[in-house]
Amino acid sequence: MKDSLLYLDQVSKLYATPQGWLQAVREVTLEVQAGEFYSLLGSSGSGKTTTLRLIGGFEIPDAGRVMLGGEDVTQLPPHRRDLHTVFQNYALFPHLSVAQNIAYPLKIARLPDSEIKPRLADALEMFRISELAERRPTQLSGGQQQRVALARALISRPKVLLLDEPLSALDAQIREDLRQELRQLQRQTNLTFIYVTHDQEEALGLSDRIAVMQQGQVEQVGSPREIYDRPASLFVARFIGKANFLTGRVIQTEPLTVAVQELTIRATAPSHQPLLGETVTLMIRPEQLRLNSLQPDPLLDLEQPNLNQIRGKITGETYVGQLLQLQIDTALGPLIATVLGGAVLGGEVNLTWPAFACIVISPSASA
Ligand code: ADP
Ligand code: MG
Repeated sequence: MKDSLLYLDQVSKLYATPQGWLQAVREVTLEVQAGEFYSLLGSSGSGKTTTLRLIGGFEIPDAGRVMLGGEDVTQLPPHRRDLHTVFQNYALFPHLSVAQNIAYPLKIARLPDSEIKPRLADALEMFRISELAERRPTQLSGGQQQRVALARALISRPKVLLLDEPLSALDAQIREDLRQELRQLQRQTNLTFIYVTHDQEEALGLSDRIAVMQQGQVEQVGSPREIYDRPASLFVARFIGKANFLTGRVIQTEPLTVAVQELTIRATAPSHQPLLGETVTLMIRPEQLRLNSLQPDPLLDLEQPNLNQIRGKITGETYVGQLLQLQIDTALGPLIATVLGGAVLGGEVNLTWPAFACIVISPSASA
């Protein structure tokens, strides 16, 4: 904790509203390491922006501490913190040129022109906006304006860059391009990015670690893979990606076995140890279901105790990118599976999935 670059220690924030007090952030504890690309992911109103503003010093918490580089900065104003914030609406100065906007933080810091010039040139180059240097913000597209805002944020080389949904106002293609550039830039510069987004795909694709937020609380912190493969709560499992859910009762704990109606299923419980007789929810990601023909397949050993199986009939198909998402009716209800192709609507199949891909989900941490 002491050696993490940023440490939020049980931070809470309340806002006064006409309806009374609203707790926007509840006892949030987070640690961010130097050089991490760290995302705050959650739906609208979950407290992401407030958390970022608490880190940036635009809000003072009602309880808890904000530590930056081992120093307690809880009461310090934004300009006394070694970080820079990029807002969704760019916040460029309309009366200044692109070059003047980007160089602004260095001017304020009273750096000599001889130092500003090469750094400005570097920043313009880095974001491929050198030819726009003399334009005003109003003469730029949204994507170009955001490049200017990012160049301005990086020119003062802050320890931490705070980004609040910086790409959400942009068109899909420009967003995708800038997303890749941001990731590359973060890798090259090794700066610490704290990135707010409501877009799970963006968070999964960009981040070293993600904090999933709900109702002002952190539900889970983990790498994109951990969050996707081993969601710690039903909320996270539903929020990230698609999944099948089955409810059953634990009939054996070693190895973990769950009865779902007539079917006995082998499962894995990464986040808690379920008790005998406990009712649990199982999660299976659609790409973990294998479709096999009903004919015996010599390559498939169905006698493996850790391989679950059920019969089903393909009743629907949807193209999702390069994959086909199938709806398959089974005795346990409809399941979804994603496959590369080769499925026949109406066809009967034998579905299999391994115990390690059948995850017991604990009830929502904040429920
Ligand atoms: P997010 O960025 O995840 O959408 P916010 O942090 O902006 O969430 O908001 C969290 C909650 O706090 C929301 O319910 C929002 O309406 C409320 N809120 C945010 N800012 C204020 C404010 N200045 N005054 C009163 N309520 C606010
Ligand atoms: Mg927000």
